[in-house]
Amino acid sequence: MAVLGGRIIAIGSESAVKALANESTRIVRFSGVALPGFDDAHIHTSAIGAQLERLNLRGLTKAAILANVAHAARSSSPGTWIQGDGWDQGFWHPATFPTAKDLDSVSGAHPVVLDRIDGHSTWVNSRVLELSKISRDTRDPEGGHIMRDAAGEPSGMLVDNAQELIRQVIPKPTHADLERQVRAALQQFTRWGLTSVQDAAVDLDTISIYKELLKRGELPVRVYVMAAGEQARRQYLATGPEVDLGSGMLTVRSFKLFSDGALGSRGAELTEPYADAPGLRGLELIKDADLNAIIRAAQQKGFQVNTHAIGDLAVRRVLDAYQRGGVTPQERFRVEHASIITDNDLPRFAQLGIIASIQPVFVGEYSRWADARVGPARAHWVLRTRDLLNSRARLAAGTDYPASDSGSPIDNLFCVVTRRGADGKPEAGWHPDQHIDVDQALRMMTIGPAYASFREKDLGELTVGRYADFTVLSADPYKIRSNALRSIAVRMTVVAGRVTFDASR
Ligand SMILES: [Zn+2]
Repeated sequence: MAVLGGRIIAIGSESAVKALANESTRIVRFSGVALPGFDDAHIHTSAIGAQLERLNLRGLTKAAILANVAHAARSSSPGTWIQGDGWDQGFWHPATFPTAKDLDSVSGAHPVVLDRIDGHSTWVNSRVLELSKISRDTRDPEGGHIMRDAAGEPSGMLVDNAQELIRQVIPKPTHADLERQVRAALQQFTRWGLTSVQDAAVDLDTISIYKELLKRGELPVRVYVMAAGEQARRQYLATGPEVDLGSGMLTVRSFKLFSDGALGSRGAELTEPYADAPGLRGLELIKDADLNAIIRAAQQKGFQVNTHAIGDLAVRRVLDAYQRGGVTPQERFRVEHASIITDNDLPRFAQLGIIASIQPVFVGEYSRWADARVGPARAHWVLRTRDLLNSRARLAAGTDYPASDSGSPIDNLFCVVTRRGADGKPEAGWHPDQHIDVDQALRMMTIGPAYASFREKDLGELTVGRYADFTVLSADPYKIRSNALRSIAVRMTVVAGRVTFDASR
């Protein structure tokens, strides 16, 4: 492969390509298999950076989590905040939500805030309830829920919009904190073999950090921004999209919206009540009228709209809103997650030209509790990857990390092909009839995300004219047993002909 100005100018035999070299040509050799660079269609950069500095509670028992908190409490000065994330009660016996009292016994004078793996609910200790003035008299905010004990006292679990009640008392990261965290996450992306990421909820402060890094030539991964929040939306609607800054390194041309919560915390909006909580149907986080207005404004200014919808009712409402707005396939509007889809709504993605942005790695988490949430009659509506593919819907795969078990594209590939989680469980696969093959999976992780971000002419394949973005793997995923996919290592990551990660160094 010969590269000039970041783009591929020739691919062929060594002698044919070498004929293009001159004395200033840099020659990079590698052993392994080069694939088009991995592009994560839905990931959270700054949250990954913050998480690298917090307690990582993924896969831990409650006892192990409390031991971690006790250790952090002993090793930091009294009153400092202890923060963590990634816990999942699905790993515990019994699999019930934890309480503030659990934490009080180990946290001393420290406020403790531990986000559940999906980010849609938070476990806090009594000190945090006190600081944020949450008592038995506090009402549930709209779109949120304060869990309570039998006596009506807040139990220490805050779901969806109830999490806002503690946001004001948690110390805010400074711009310098945020920049350090974004940099750390970007370095992690290069090690995972990612050449491009689509950051799925970005505020103006983080966008300014991306721009600073780009200006200094220190952006090692292409970033496609989904701007989130009213402030960012207002500013960008006034100025318009920013496309392909720095030779395609940074683009801001989409808005991220949220129509419901998550399935784990029963915030996903369902057409019928939860099988394991018959009084609940989930949360509606945006009104149809607001959704309509944002869609219209985005269309007028040339922005893509990417709306989070996990429950089957949320998915339907978002598809309805796109249809009402007359969204065309050329506008490439997306449903983020599309985790539960009824049989009636499934064909609408292809019919309307709406992209399903899915996260196969959720198979691991969902295998632990999703069957209980929806019951057997609806189980086949959940994470129906093969059904979506057969419906001819456009698909883009991502990980939603750190809201999932792993942000590694290799893990994601393993999960979508085997229907096992990133930890290899369950061994027989979860609803394995929804598995797809390696070729379909790799397309969904390369050209799929490229299309979903209007960049399929520049990215997603290794052909003359496209950017020289590729990932070198230790083994050919097309040739090894699917159960061994997880053992593939990333040897090198290259963006626009520039080596951003080299495992041999
Ligand atoms: Zn997300």
